[in-house]
Amino acid sequence: MNAAADAISPSTETQEFLARKHQLLIDGQWVDAASGDTITVEDPATEQTIGEVAIGGAEDIDRAVAAARKALKGEWAKLTSYDRSRLIWRLADELEASLNLATELEVIDNGMPREIAMYSIIAAGINHLRYYAGWPTKIHGQTIPVSPGGAANGETLTYTQREPVGVVGAITPWNAPLPMVILKLAPALAAGCTLVLKPAEMTPFTALLIGELTKRVGIPDGVFNIVVGYGQDAGAALSEHDGVDKIAFTGSTAVGKIIAKAATGNLKKVSLELGGKSPVVVFPDANLEAVVPGAARAAFFLQGQNCMAGTRMFVHESIYEPVVKGVAEMAKMFKMGHGLDPTSLMGPLISAKQRETVMGYLEAGKASGAELICGGEAVDGTGYFVEPTIFGRTNRSMKIMQEEIFGPVLSVQTFGDESLEELADEVNSTVYGLSGSVWTKDVSVAHRMVNLIDSGQVAINCHAAVDPAIPFGGNRQSGWGREFGQEGLEPYLKTKATTVMF
Ligand code: NDP
Repeated sequence: MNAAADAISPSTETQEFLARKHQLLIDGQWVDAASGDTITVEDPATEQTIGEVAIGGAEDIDRAVAAARKALKGEWAKLTSYDRSRLIWRLADELEASLNLATELEVIDNGMPREIAMYSIIAAGINHLRYYAGWPTKIHGQTIPVSPGGAANGETLTYTQREPVGVVGAITPWNAPLPMVILKLAPALAAGCTLVLKPAEMTPFTALLIGELTKRVGIPDGVFNIVVGYGQDAGAALSEHDGVDKIAFTGSTAVGKIIAKAATGNLKKVSLELGGKSPVVVFPDANLEAVVPGAARAAFFLQGQNCMAGTRMFVHESIYEPVVKGVAEMAKMFKMGHGLDPTSLMGPLISAKQRETVMGYLEAGKASGAELICGGEAVDGTGYFVEPTIFGRTNRSMKIMQEEIFGPVLSVQTFGDESLEELADEVNSTVYGLSGSVWTKDVSVAHRMVNLIDSGQVAINCHAAVDPAIPFGGNRQSGWGREFGQEGLEPYLKTKATTVMF
């Protein structure tokens, strides 16, 4: 493995973008933080500073929420559903036209390989916007038959209308910065809401680019506001704010619980996309030619900094050796390096702190008695690179099988001739329930196992199918609500029922 993190030069356009003064977007204007504070942002592959951004706090959140409240009743509210569709579609076009810039920013900011950045921006950025651009014209209520004499002792007609839920506070993580913004922005705009976004301050640049594009396409001032800031400061102020009607949060389960509590002040609505520890269940008849690359991708995509990562593999004892050997061989072939180097297949972790957290789990794994099959070390040199690691012969009592590591670590447990119900008891033995996959040629086993897995999304013979139309979200402590698809629009709408007596 080559973990050299020699910087590969981005395009002049990207260099010029990064060199700019980066401010907050409030009421359609780029402004300094009220405190005047800024922070520097680093490339995790080179540990070099790549830019400087304004860092906002509670006062900036107040200004942004006021702008979003004003915009909710302004020009934006008067646009037709066709106008909203057109604006969202234009935003997709502008993002497509800026694809190289967005991709390079995402790579330098987050560390992910270029191909993955581009794929995720197309699939969960451009396509997502186009999917939700189709919705404004299809949002409508119902007419409801009511018993005569029911409400007012006369003949009545009841109808419902769908209204935007109001001002949305969106709080996003660093692991897939641009898609995380679009997953909230697209349905919120489709519903007619306004937003205040607090992106992760470690990866702010693609969010700021989206802010620029919303201005370019003519989305009215104040509809989309961006306050880059720290979670405990700007994030907390946003989630507590009485002027916010809904929080759309993606991040860790621990912070999700803090946000749920903070929202009780004005009982704002909350949707939470949280952590995962997703299972990959491999039966003895599975096609190993598909399982091996599928499991390797499931575990190590985005260096394992992926909420859907398949980090717990359950393999039938009879195929344990070939499966584990195959996945380890693939892991060793993942060339690590700077994401702009086209030969890199894995990038660094996001930060020194994240590497330290992951190394703690590697030590816990080694001390637990699990079999270390490959990896297990950080890579010497510049950048926060960690080797893809596989632990075999694990069990549910081990920390590495229970906690979300958010790094390139796969834990493998075997099963034998127990019933599917007994196997499901092992598979469901964490607090999470986000994703998962089942690998077998037997359709009965596949469907029975899917029914037993307590996760929001399960795939058969692939892992983590992502499409704008497929609802995505977690059961248990993996979250509240769903993003993507029609279900992903619902949290941005509220229903008003009107009864007419005639
Ligand atoms: P965190 O929960 O640490 O942070 C997420 C966001 O919340 C950041 O913007 C952060 O700000 C902010 N934040 C932190 N503390 C507070 C607070 N007290 N009040 C309000 N906001 C706060 O998660 P990470 O950024 O570390 O992201 C990784 C996590 O995200 C993993 O658990 C992963 O599984 C989950 N995730 C879930 C997805 C899903 O769809 N289910 C998708 C992607 C990731 P700051 O930047 O300052 O920390």
